[in-house]
Amino acid sequence: MAAQPPSPVYDCIVVGAGIQGSCAAYHLAKNQRKTLLLEQFVLPHSRGSSHGQTRIIRKAYKEDFYAHMMEESYELWAQLEKEAGVQLCRQTGLLLMGPETGKDYQLMKDAMQRNKLPLVILNPEEFSQHIPNVNLTGGDGALVDTTAGVLYADRALSAVQRLFQVLGGVIKDGQKVTDIKPGPVVTVTTAAAVYQAKSLVITVGTWASKVLSPIGLNLPLQVLKINVCYWKEKVAGSYSVNRRFPCFIQLESQEASHDIYGLPSNEYPGLMKVCYHTGSETDPDDRDGQTDRSDVEILKRYVSRCFPGLVPVPAVVESCMYTVTPDLHFVLDYHPAHRNIVIGAGFSGHGFKFAPVVGKVLYELTMGQVPSHDLSPFRIGRFQPHAGSAQ
Ligand SMILES: Cc1cc2nc3c(=O)[nH]c(=O)nc-3n(C[C@H](O)[C@H](O)[C@H](O)COP(=O)(O)OP(=O)(O)OC[C@H]3O[C@@H](n4cnc5c(N)ncnc54)[C@H](O)[C@@H]3O)c2cc1C
Repeated sequence: MAAQPPSPVYDCIVVGAGIQGSCAAYHLAKNQRKTLLLEQFVLPHSRGSSHGQTRIIRKAYKEDFYAHMMEESYELWAQLEKEAGVQLCRQTGLLLMGPETGKDYQLMKDAMQRNKLPLVILNPEEFSQHIPNVNLTGGDGALVDTTAGVLYADRALSAVQRLFQVLGGVIKDGQKVTDIKPGPVVTVTTAAAVYQAKSLVITVGTWASKVLSPIGLNLPLQVLKINVCYWKEKVAGSYSVNRRFPCFIQLESQEASHDIYGLPSNEYPGLMKVCYHTGSETDPDDRDGQTDRSDVEILKRYVSRCFPGLVPVPAVVESCMYTVTPDLHFVLDYHPAHRNIVIGAGFSGHGFKFAPVVGKVLYELTMGQVPSHDLSPFRIGRFQPHAGSAQ
């Protein structure tokens, strides 16, 4: 039998082909790094966090560091659109509602003003004039981030993976990484083969604890199953993206302790997506075993009170997962004991819009470059005060 040719030593292996790993791989290939992207499932798949047709993109954030990262992320999304020749974003605006004197609403409004974001504040009269199909809760303020909109998630993921391959990158799907041996050259084993690389990026979404703990890193990550609910319009088109109905976030509602958010009807004609920004704990390998629907009950009450033009029972319920950190900020850092292993994790249900900039900083970390954004909010050391971290 002929001997197998030795596998090349890659400059970098990226484990996990969700949006974060795919964007990291794209930046590596764009900078002439010989890169292998490994994915446990056959692509495309719907078992992680990056599937589905839409996500919200916005600059409205309480924290300045997110607003600054989003400035660059918008530019990088536009560049990806151009390179791929497909539309990835659609501007609709984002309606933010919440108790006018509440902490979250005030922090959001202050940050948007401080960062000079195009912002429209609606008084109750203007609200009912411009947003006729929504009941604004008494005492709630309303403002609009006009730059926000919808990101076409599935389309973006496949476009980035395609661009990565055009740039010479290699994707091997259906290959679950079962072992990682750190060292100056990292050895990565799947059921099919053994690969080697000078550096490794780990972006495995909800599987992060399972992959990181065998290499000595235990992060406080919680995996949540999200019920993704779609609600039928009573009058077809009344909440449609084609009529420029905005995305929305409801802060501090009467019904819920977490935010409620929604996107205009788009992927399923006549159905608007409205979801609760949390869920019940699950094991990523047994997502369907988690059947809690208490969030759907909360949503039914909210939809019935605030969205009178929607049937208050979901017509479609799909599933997705979040990986949340205790402070809901990401993890973007080196492995504390192995500087050639870089980790992107804990995107806490709001990471898609950042993916091009996350991919860029993960690339910069693998190259030992000074990252183009301040990564101090994302350091592993915030959970493990004595661990080393990205500068
Ligand atoms: C319902 C829902 C709504 C959301 N809404 C928004 C929004 O409006 N705006 C926004 O910005 N973000 C939003 N997000 C968050 C965003 O989608 C996630 O932050 C993002 O998709 C995370 O991507 P990821 O690449 O880290 O994870 P994933 O997409 O899960 O990718 C990780 C990949 O690693 C693979 N993998 C795991 N283990 C292994 C292994 N051992 N070997 C090989 N491969 C492996 C997995 O199969 C998977 O493909 C939402 C998320 C959900 C679920």
